[in-house]
Amino acid sequence: MASRRKFVAGNWKMHGSLADASALATAVSQGVSGLDNIDVVVCPVNVHISAVASVTQSTSVKLGAQNAHPAESGAFTGETSMAMLGELGCQYAIVGHSERRQLFGETDKAVAEKVEAALQQGITPILCIGETLDEREAGHLEKVIHAQLGEVLARVGIDALSKVVVAYEPVWAIGTGKTASPQQAQEVHAMIRARLACDNADIAASVQILYGGSVKPDNAADLFSQADIDGGLIGGAALDADSFTAICQAASAL
Ligand code: PEP
Repeated sequence: MASRRKFVAGNWKMHGSLADASALATAVSQGVSGLDNIDVVVCPVNVHISAVASVTQSTSVKLGAQNAHPAESGAFTGETSMAMLGELGCQYAIVGHSERRQLFGETDKAVAEKVEAALQQGITPILCIGETLDEREAGHLEKVIHAQLGEVLARVGIDALSKVVVAYEPVWAIGTGKTASPQQAQEVHAMIRARLACDNADIAASVQILYGGSVKPDNAADLFSQADIDGGLIGGAALDADSFTAICQAASAL
């Protein structure tokens, strides 16, 4: 079996002041210092990225954005390009988060364009996919996951997936306190890897696939010890440095 590094990313969403972001970055950097066997990424809002970068630049914590526009530049009022985020020090960008899909109408095609734009700028996309409760209950889980992945594969090709992190985030588990059980999550992670393996087994075996949806310090180890779960994309618990650090420690200990 391919050995994959565990990976923990914090999605800070639209929370906190500039001072809060710097303080959180400082506390997280201290908390995870020495956890050298895992990748740790924090994703503040765009206007906080420079301040957070000045805290994290001399630490092992890496920076990510929460979203970006696929164009390199142009008349897109209010938007930010991948290139601009790269200039600020972002090595990662969350792409296709369910909140972007649901609240801002991002389609699978738009998400695939963003994945391509990130890769063109040398930014690693953290590609979020996942089903709603209705889709799961209607038996459409596999169809939804395959459609979301398929659009990206059609646009960038399987070879590019070696530079993508995938995050499986069941929409019904995000911010709800309802976590997928480790078995439920593992089943979908295996499904994702099997779909990628149809195109290239070696790449499928090497892609980091994160679980996201109400991960907390007390469920992280059970989730992350599943064969195909390589870490987590953390929302609520990422806003508390102690909780986030405990989740990173759980990943590091595996
Ligand atoms: C998220 O927003 O990506 C997420 C996983 O949130 P939470 O951990 O709060 O469920």
